[in-house]
Amino acid sequence: MATKQIAPGLFEISLGAVNLFLLESDDGWALIDTGFPNKADQILKAVQELGKQPTDIRHIIVTHAHPDHIGNLAALKRATNATTYSHPADTAIARAGGNFRPLTPAPGFINGLMFRIFIRPVGPLEGTEIDQEIGEGDLLPIAGGLTVLHTPGHCAGHLSFFWPRQQLLFVGDACSNLPRLGWSLGYENIQVGQQSLARLAKLDFDLACFGHGKSILHDASAQFRKQWL
Ligand SMILES: [Zn+2]
Ligand SMILES: [Zn+2]
Repeated sequence: MATKQIAPGLFEISLGAVNLFLLESDDGWALIDTGFPNKADQILKAVQELGKQPTDIRHIIVTHAHPDHIGNLAALKRATNATTYSHPADTAIARAGGNFRPLTPAPGFINGLMFRIFIRPVGPLEGTEIDQEIGEGDLLPIAGGLTVLHTPGHCAGHLSFFWPRQQLLFVGDACSNLPRLGWSLGYENIQVGQQSLARLAKLDFDLACFGHGKSILHDASAQFRKQWL
């Protein structure tokens, strides 16, 4: 596990295959995504190393309800008592900790191979109460304002977030940057995913943070335009 500052007030916690993001906010901190199951202690240790207590986290937002993003949601909600957020299309999955919808591999031989290696059926997770459902156009009063973008395709309830303060896009799994900008490994509907990516590519942002892969720290929207328009 490694914690890295991406921008003022923003830290990335890498759990190896998946990234979480901690965002400083006036009323506490916000966590975007929670990683694979059984990592809550590691995540809370990273929070403590930043000089914060678990209860300093006031918001936990999931980009979507896949096991590598909601894996520690229940444990972290218990430890922090934070408000939890997801898109309505994924809320039932987060609450149940199961009933994951099937994905099909993204185009390309390597994606197909990686999909078969990494996308495994998982047993049921612990379900978690979702306190607030959020969707397209909502403005969350977190860290000076986070704009909610509904970006379906990877899954129906997938969310990305634009953070104007740093001109930064939280991409989630709409695409990945592993090892370079490209498809995520799987999609519920790749045509819809392409439309979401074309839409993101029309926005202006300088930094981009991904569920999987390294953050892009400069001129990120130029790379998106080149890849997805
Ligand atoms: Zn996913
Ligand atoms: Zn993921």
